[in-house]
Amino acid sequence: KGKRAFIAGVADDNGYGWAIAKSLAAAGAEILVGTWVPALNIFESSLRRGKFDASRILPDGSLMEITKVYPLDAVFDTIEDVPEDIKSNKRYAGSSNWTVQEVAESVKKDFGSIDILVHSLANGPEVSKPLLETSRKGYLAALSASSYSYVSLLKHFLPIINPGMHLIQHGSCFIACGSSISLTYIASERIIPGYGGGMSSAKAALESDTRVLAFEAGRKHKIRVNTISAGPLRSRAAKAIGFIDMMIDYSLANAPLQKELSAEEVGNTAAFLASPLASAITGAVIYVDNGLNAMGVGV
Ligand code: NAD
Repeated sequence: KGKRAFIAGVADDNGYGWAIAKSLAAAGAEILVGTWVPALNIFESSLRRGKFDASRILPDGSLMEITKVYPLDAVFDTIEDVPEDIKSNKRYAGSSNWTVQEVAESVKKDFGSIDILVHSLANGPEVSKPLLETSRKGYLAALSASSYSYVSLLKHFLPIINPGMHLIQHGSCFIACGSSISLTYIASERIIPGYGGGMSSAKAALESDTRVLAFEAGRKHKIRVNTISAGPLRSRAAKAIGFIDMMIDYSLANAPLQKELSAEEVGNTAAFLASPLASAITGAVIYVDNGLNAMGVGV
């Protein structure tokens, strides 16, 4: 039976979430996505009107099917957390059941279970401000949208993620199924001027949480938890930060592999991490960046 994946953070065909969806679909998985509520209408209508058809083509020539698109706002855990102004906001009032708990309940009702959970979302309202100029509100908003959102998603989806099974094959023990993946950035551990607003802090939290969650979800449910530290990609979110072209040029000039990183390379790594081929990998930060993280100085 094919696996089922829920990918949070897909709102167009340019980002890592879309590429991960494609790689998982190419490997035979059924695809469900969670789309940020304010971006939902344009994403769904673009999908319907065929705007993404060229980007839906899989290696075998067929088109990726997205079985269902769920509205999601990952900064709210339950309906009780939603303030009045958001509830009555036109873009939010048009959809329902978009808090993390409600989305997990809807997926359970619709499909029963999933095998793969992907978190491909981040938001830092003050990302263009240096940390010294970041407000408490902006810093906490970055952590809420980019780090706690993952803790919350995993917590609410965990009961419906098919637990890993120990499989004995050719005398070796594998853990099949049950995998969770997020996306991080090297600004968590090295100084990247321009990645501000507490976003560097948010990625550091995400990476630390990856280790603790790997322990908790591993012991309890045999689920593996990993994060991919991805190199620069010209996504919608990255363009909003304002220095993405510079980062791509820097990588081209300085990384061991002098080529532009394609989103597909990150997607393929996610497919590997979700597969039994990665059965002993958990709690890891996996670099998919043409090796840039290994450099000590620019050349
Ligand atoms: P993207 O714009 O494709 O994805 C970000 C998504 O987050 C968007 O779809 C947006 O709608 C969604 N989102 C924002 N706030 C949300 C909320 N509260 N609830 C639900 N969804 C919300 O951009 P991307 O660059 O592909 O980002 C995906 C992940 O990759 C992020 O974690 C990002 O930090 C990480 N990453 C990106 C780069 C890069 O250079 N683009 C590098 C390393 C890591």
